[in-house]
Amino acid sequence: MSVTADTVIIGGGVMGCSIAYNLAKEGLKPIVVEKSDIGGEASGSNGGGVRQSARNLKEMPLAMESVKLYEQLHDELGMDVEYVQKGNLRLCTTEEELENMRKSVENQKAAGLDLEMLDRKQILEINPYVGEKVIGASYCPTDGHANPFLVTYAYYKRAKELGVQFFTHEEVTDIRLRKGKVIGVLTNKREIHTDVVVNAAGVAGREVANMVDLDLPLRPVFSEALITEPCSPLFPQMIGHAKGLFYGRQTVHGSFFWGGFVGTENFIYRSGKPLFHFIGPAICKMVEEYFPILKGLNVIRTWSGIIAMMSDGLPVLGFTEEVAGFVFATGFSGHGFGLAPIIGKLISELILDCKTSLPINEFCYGRFSHEETEECACKAEGACTISSAICPYKREWLKSV
Ligand SMILES: Cc1cc2nc3c(=O)[nH]c(=O)nc-3n(C[C@H](O)[C@H](O)[C@H](O)COP(=O)(O)OP(=O)(O)OC[C@H]3O[C@@H](n4cnc5c(N)ncnc54)[C@H](O)[C@@H]3O)c2cc1C
Repeated sequence: MSVTADTVIIGGGVMGCSIAYNLAKEGLKPIVVEKSDIGGEASGSNGGGVRQSARNLKEMPLAMESVKLYEQLHDELGMDVEYVQKGNLRLCTTEEELENMRKSVENQKAAGLDLEMLDRKQILEINPYVGEKVIGASYCPTDGHANPFLVTYAYYKRAKELGVQFFTHEEVTDIRLRKGKVIGVLTNKREIHTDVVVNAAGVAGREVANMVDLDLPLRPVFSEALITEPCSPLFPQMIGHAKGLFYGRQTVHGSFFWGGFVGTENFIYRSGKPLFHFIGPAICKMVEEYFPILKGLNVIRTWSGIIAMMSDGLPVLGFTEEVAGFVFATGFSGHGFGLAPIIGKLISELILDCKTSLPINEFCYGRFSHEETEECACKAEGACTISSAICPYKREWLKSV
């Protein structure tokens, strides 16, 4: 059985659903092919952080525009996605962390973001529960968080109402080309004729690129998370660690979400391989040190997700010179949820008009044909304070797996 579509989107995560919705809003009728369930991969396992602060400066314009779209998402999609815009605190406990954070804040301000450094007294005014070891923080008042299941589902539902077809539990196995142009997609159930294919396959973005003989420096990174039993509302901010070792928030239902990489730092360097160990206890221990009031709160569920980590920590977006009709929207490197609204808008603009309202050339596939620098791109820019655990340039194993 074969069908025809103006666009085929591979992947029904938050990106695939956001792109489908934005295309359908402009009158297209894309087909989304999802090999498991909608939001069944990273989009259903993430922390819900909607963050502009501490991003690579190249992503800053996209992140700032995405936050504006999050502010209207409830009205736009007709569903409450539990968006809370009460700021992001990135906590420092040493002079070294403070110094790095100050520099980072200055660079982010220069890029147009409204954020500031807070001392301990100022932090306590907005979050009285931080532990004694916290001596300062960056604070971005327009950052926040949302429910990742609801955001993905809201895009999916609205897209479906606008005529998008979703083929779930169906896997794209190949992409058909003629004279360097996309002409269709093969799944395990049918052939779909199309001249535009979007690679929104998350961590499988590399395999999908391989289907058209392209390759990506994209590696899977294992990441763990947990949720606690609910308690009374304590603080609404998204919380981050100065070096990215843990992050989390209280949901609107009272449970705390925490995720992170703490506990893996030494092993990563020693073993040279990714870890598949349970680090929930290490996350809990660190959270208790930073928020002693949470001691004794029961963890009710833990899970793991896979991050689609690019070698430079930036997504791959847009058309390629090599294959006409093939569009990248993958490799979000652990912070794509916050970008989903703007990515949907930009990729749909690109497909419809061959131009975008914000530049995306920094994220083009062509950047990988240049020599990779050994220098940490984020640090060189002075914006990203994430150093030890998740900086892709410091993970030797990332290149070796
Ligand atoms: C534990 C964890 C915490 C995170 N926390 C945050 C956070 O707080 N804030 C933030 O901004 N980001 C966060 N992220 C990152 C965020 O989740 C991702 O960047 C985002 O969800 C990427 O969405 P996606 O649609 O590109 O990928 P995915 O959600 O992975 O979707 C890709 C889909 O493609 C499908 N697929 C793959 N291959 C095929 C094929 N051949 N045929 C059909 N379907 C296919 C997959 O089944 C999958 O459903 C976190 C990630 C993890 C793992």
